[in-house]
Amino acid sequence: MRIVVLAGGFGGSRFVSGVRDAVGPDDEITVVANTADDIWLFGLRVSPDLDTIMYTLGDGIDAERGWGRTDETWNAKEELATYGEPQAWFGLGDRDLATHVVRTARLREGLTLTEATAELCRRWQPGVTLLPMTDAQVETHVATTVDGQDQVIHFQEYWIKHHAGVPVRGIELQGIEDAGPTPEVLAALESADVILAAPSNPIVSIGPIVSVPGMRDALSDAKAPVVGVSPIIGGAALRGMADQLLDALGIEISATGVARYHGDLLDGWLVDTEDADQVDAIEAAGITARAVPLYMRDAETSRQLALDAIALATELHS
Ligand code: GDP
Ligand code: CA
Repeated sequence: MRIVVLAGGFGGSRFVSGVRDAVGPDDEITVVANTADDIWLFGLRVSPDLDTIMYTLGDGIDAERGWGRTDETWNAKEELATYGEPQAWFGLGDRDLATHVVRTARLREGLTLTEATAELCRRWQPGVTLLPMTDAQVETHVATTVDGQDQVIHFQEYWIKHHAGVPVRGIELQGIEDAGPTPEVLAALESADVILAAPSNPIVSIGPIVSVPGMRDALSDAKAPVVGVSPIIGGAALRGMADQLLDALGIEISATGVARYHGDLLDGWLVDTEDADQVDAIEAAGITARAVPLYMRDAETSRQLALDAIALATELHS
């Protein structure tokens, strides 16, 4: 079986771990990761979602934080702050820094982000093929108001510097119109038996992936059904800022609201058992829905969720 998973960082990496634990040694998993969280910091290309997935699957993640490396130290960050560097708010650990140095070196040598990621993965052996959604530079920016001034700031500045504590007037995917899916992504979608959308942020993780020009067509042309997992349970996101962003964009904060937002992208949608009363409304929108436990508490619940998603996809395939 060939499985492709569309994924952001936190929900994405846990779900992909579940998929890896759910399948057999002959099954192939390809992860198409969001890269619109990427940012240039101090001349280095930082790819938070690629790294969260790579570190999680490679057992290098700080599991408590959910991002960055285990046994991390923060000397470089402190030194940067002492220099008064304006971007020192970003959580750049010393171990993590090496990843960004290697990635940037490879990009400077002319490799694509896809190739640079493959090289980083040679160390981490994630057990999946990890692909950026595009080799082009796409960055999510947030239209907001800071200290009474209307501004458009990088998503990381909104999320990490301002802790999502500033109003959201809109979201811009800068560079998206010039981006395209890579040959690697297109080949994976074309040959997939199952395509899964992880329970990732609909606006800033899954949204950018499916907004890459050509991606929606590639998904609908694929022979595999697309089955997504709701990141919203009982009217709230489990972690992160998804509910704030949905609210700002006028999208109902519910499993149904997110399913409608993704629209014709989805053939199937998993909602939590707590949201079982929404199955009919989702099916009325033409999406096959099932209610199963969606909390990824540990490896076993993540594996079971992956099995449920694969089962729905298999059902839709036949
Ligand atoms: P980020 O890139 O690190 O923000 O992570 P993602 O976009 O991949 O995932 C963030 C989303 O994961 C949030 O919207 C959460 O609601 C969702 N999420 C986190 N944990 C769980 C879980 O256990 N189950 C489900 N269904 N969603 C989850
Ligand atoms: Ca992210």
